[in-house]
Amino acid sequence: MTLTEPATARSTETTGTTGLHEALLHEHSAHNYHPLPVVVAEAEGAWVTDVEGRRYLDCLAGYSALNFGHRHPVLVAAAHRQLDRVTLTSRAFGSDQLGPWCAELSALLGKQMVLPMNTGAEAVESGVKVARKWGYEVKGVPADQARIVVASGGFHGRTTTIVGFSTDPDARGGFGPFTPGFDVVPYGDAAAIRAAITPETVAVLIEPIQGEAGVIVPEAGYLPAVREVCDAAGVLFVADEVQAGLGRTGHLLATRAAGVDADVYLLGKALGGGIMPLSAVVADADVLGVLQPGQHGSTFGGNPLACAVGRAVIELLADDGPDGVLARARTLGPVLHERLAGLVGKGVTGSRGVGLWAGIDVDPRLGTGRAVSEALMRRGVLVKDTHGSTIRLSPPLVITEAELHGAVDALEAALADLAGLAGLAGLAG
Ligand SMILES: *Cc1c(COP(=O)(O)O)cnc(C)c1O
Repeated sequence: MTLTEPATARSTETTGTTGLHEALLHEHSAHNYHPLPVVVAEAEGAWVTDVEGRRYLDCLAGYSALNFGHRHPVLVAAAHRQLDRVTLTSRAFGSDQLGPWCAELSALLGKQMVLPMNTGAEAVESGVKVARKWGYEVKGVPADQARIVVASGGFHGRTTTIVGFSTDPDARGGFGPFTPGFDVVPYGDAAAIRAAITPETVAVLIEPIQGEAGVIVPEAGYLPAVREVCDAAGVLFVADEVQAGLGRTGHLLATRAAGVDADVYLLGKALGGGIMPLSAVVADADVLGVLQPGQHGSTFGGNPLACAVGRAVIELLADDGPDGVLARARTLGPVLHERLAGLVGKGVTGSRGVGLWAGIDVDPRLGTGRAVSEALMRRGVLVKDTHGSTIRLSPPLVITEAELHGAVDALEAALADLAGLAGLAGLAG
């Protein structure tokens, strides 16, 4: 695979069809994103093709929504079959996909019940509601006093309640007043959680690995310590696995990979196979059983089309054999991290991660994460910056080893491009 070779001819200008699409977005789309100048027309597996026929290796994979790659044939076939049968019933009626999907997802995670929603933020909101109701009805917390401990640097979505407990000024600025009842403690510090817990605390809500923060992997003892703190205080451990779960780390759940079982799992992104928005709260009946008819819902949550795709996703995830996606992330993960470690001193100041998931800190003298993303785009690889000069690499789990090497080769070349531009010849390696 020769990623860097054809890419050197790539134009840096956004002219022609790309420029036209950018102009439409600029005029008529809210400016809540600053996308790279790539306008995708088609995609397959780990690759996308833009409106001008240029091919790129997609190393963002829809922030892990595309863990199985673009248009995985098994998932597309499931979607096509269901499109020809029934797509939406609302929860006012049943469908022949919802019950089986709930049962299969429960079995996959070893929990008793599933609450179907659509987006990750909805799963988090639903988890917050369920934890509070559990607190009042099971734990006996006085009405409207429930508190939830969360971690700084976390990312859980964009709704008003969720951004209210975000520590990112961009995420929360201008959107108050916020929902009360959240206590923010430093991530990675179980003692800080213990200190923040009061008799009114109903849950600890954290990511087992912080994704948007730059793929922050906590120390090995953190998640087990959080479990102990939750058990001692009688509060729910709610794991937001929307990005970390479903194969990204080489495991079904990042929490379980650390030897810990959460009380409540929040899933999204890859759960819908990159085809349908599909999210879920998964827990045992003593927790999810607090919801009674009329107390929570969603018009699209658990629709037959999403569930049909979701059932095919579960089948892919259930295959933990040597040819499955989980095994691929476990095998290729070390290859990726070893290659990235080799770039330290060549424009990279540090890298971390697990499975096919990496946060890469670029020497700020070479440019911002955005500048690195643009340089990498010109080399034929798509990524997204997180904060400052950090970029995140999360290729589809179906990526081949040769493609993965191609992506890191392109990163090395892009860093050399930037070093050349910055006059830092020594860094170009
Ligand atoms: C992306 C993400 C969410 C929000 O998901 P949306 O589908 O964008 O609402 C929640 N939690 C985590 C950890 C995420 O990465």
